Amino acid sequence: MHDEQKTNEPTRRQMLGLVAGAALAAPLLGATEALAAPADEKKKAPPPKGAAGGGTKMRPYELPPLPYAKNALGGYLSAEILELHHGKHHAGYVKGLNDTLAQLQEAQKKGDFSKIKPLERALAFHGSGHVLHTLYWNSMSPKGGGNPTGALKSAIETSFGSVDACRKQLAAAAKAGEASAWGVLAWEPLGNRLVTLAAENHQNQGFQGSVPLLVIDVWEHAYYLKYKADRGSYVDKFFDVANWDFAAQRLAQAQQAPLFG
Ligand code: FE
Repeated sequence: MHDEQKTNEPTRRQMLGLVAGAALAAPLLGATEALAAPADEKKKAPPPKGAAGGGTKMRPYELPPLPYAKNALGGYLSAEILELHHGKHHAGYVKGLNDTLAQLQEAQKKGDFSKIKPLERALAFHGSGHVLHTLYWNSMSPKGGGNPTGALKSAIETSFGSVDACRKQLAAAAKAGEASAWGVLAWEPLGNRLVTLAAENHQNQGFQGSVPLLVIDVWEHAYYLKYKADRGSYVDKFFDVANWDFAAQRLAQAQQAPLFG
């Protein structure tokens, strides 16, 4: 790593944000934060709230383990789906992200930016894919479902009118994504509101500066082995395992990081 890169650490706000229309990084709170930490840091106590983002040292990206057993989501997603999705697809994005950064570093060393456009596209694609999948595993829980409470419930009611209306809008956004897409519930700090997004691929149709709280992967690899072409049922049943506690935790931290000022 270059020395100047070591001092150019991402701020907490940058770690929270959807940048360039995609989630390039995210606060990795609680379980997620521990999962995302390098192996030599996993045994340490988790950082205090507000210090999320992984400290100050730049490091390679790693595939976090699933936060539950592969068969833990039972009737919603099979162990086979989770094994392939996590072990092949998510792992592929992590590798792609690290490989792309290595290529960018090589281009910088050579002063040859003739491939900068595809490399930047690959960085956005793989980086956003890694972040969104890390969020996705934690957006579901064997103990999930039910309804949000507390500040998240209040924010949902302010932004959408009701929890049910939020669920319907998020489901509609997820179902509307063309081909490979995501439904995203995000906090938009400029207007202090929650929004839904229908992100395509991983990196498109984001809202810069917004913070993803809860995400639904609607790429076919996420559901096809169980639901075949019935994306609608897969999306609707997501709410049986939705991890509102995770979303609430992320909202609390996101609200500590205004976009400006
Ligand atoms: Fe996926």
